[in-house]
Amino acid sequence: MKTLYPLLLSAALLTPVASPALAADDFSACLAGLRGDAAAKGVNGDTYSRYTSALEPDMTVIEALDYQPEFRSPIWDYLAALVDDERVADGRAKLAEWGDTLRAVEARYGVDPETVVAVWGVESNYGRNFGKRPLVTSLATLSCFGRRQSYFRGEFFTTLKILQEGHVAPEHLNGSWAGAFGHTQFMPSTFMRVAVDFDGDGRRDLVDSVPDALASTANYLVRSGWRSGEPWGYEVKLPQGFDESLAGRKKRRPLAEWVAMGLSRIGDEPVAPHDGPAALLLPAGAAGPAFLVFRNFDAIYSYNAAESYALAIAHLSDRLKGGGDFATPWPTDDAGISRAERRELQTLLLERGHDIGEVDGMIGSRTREAIKAEQARLGFEENGRAGRKILDALRPPASPADAAPR
Ligand code: CA
Repeated sequence: MKTLYPLLLSAALLTPVASPALAADDFSACLAGLRGDAAAKGVNGDTYSRYTSALEPDMTVIEALDYQPEFRSPIWDYLAALVDDERVADGRAKLAEWGDTLRAVEARYGVDPETVVAVWGVESNYGRNFGKRPLVTSLATLSCFGRRQSYFRGEFFTTLKILQEGHVAPEHLNGSWAGAFGHTQFMPSTFMRVAVDFDGDGRRDLVDSVPDALASTANYLVRSGWRSGEPWGYEVKLPQGFDESLAGRKKRRPLAEWVAMGLSRIGDEPVAPHDGPAALLLPAGAAGPAFLVFRNFDAIYSYNAAESYALAIAHLSDRLKGGGDFATPWPTDDAGISRAERRELQTLLLERGHDIGEVDGMIGSRTREAIKAEQARLGFEENGRAGRKILDALRPPASPADAAPR
């Protein structure tokens, strides 16, 4: 029976991710094999050697590539964290700090400061969150293991070209597991297509130059069809018994048709200053907020190909202009909570003895398990969600006067 062990071991070795040693061997061979392809894309031999000779793979990016979230947040959770008072206040501070630059960007590209700053706030929390993974390591690993290798090879070679051309300091070229980097979280190929040198130092630096990053964001939106002076869209009120199947970002029709169907803009402003095609978005169905969106919404959408993401940027830009929350509440009795409230919830969970790690406002699996345990104790639905209901239940009474009567 002794032979069973070696058999099991060798079976384990057949799985690349299970063996760091084997992965490293494969990695060296893979990188050697890619040298010629890199040269064909304009990466010279010196550059290739300098940045790949001592490289070791980071197999955690392959895990990230294959990760399937078991928990999907409802849109009101997503927006509550991305567009909270803290991000609005931070954005207003950035509008003041970078006012001259933002006005110059608007003069050249026709994109208003609030929209540019809203993209910045959602993409990297105004430059606080670039991602910590060295780009060359991540993209080289993704070029040699896992799915979509040919796509990531293109991004890998482009990253080496960015370094070869001296745009970004190599030690600062860190980003997400997939290779998005800098204030604007561009992929390397997007950088090559769209990034601009706005501070005039000859480098397109989306990591260490805020002017380059802000102008590159505006340039991205313009290239995606942004039209100066037009709104992204606005919240509307639906008529009684409205047919939900008419909603959808691609189901555009002339604004006059929507008006004829009984849709009206919330507030006192006219329906639109123009008469382009419009689409109706119902992110939570007809019972929640409804939005008519125009061409500029599609420009924002192209940044990350997600409607909830585009709505977060659009809404943040409105908040930065002085607008308020949506008029129609989300259809839930357990609303989403801000990042400050998430940190408060985590602190309350720690005080109750749950081992959730650091209080960082990020709701990971350990925080969710702790929430589930508290939900079970309280007789709530055990969904692990960080919402208003569990936060209120765990909060101590505000003052002795609020406590239960004696
Ligand atoms: Ca520059």
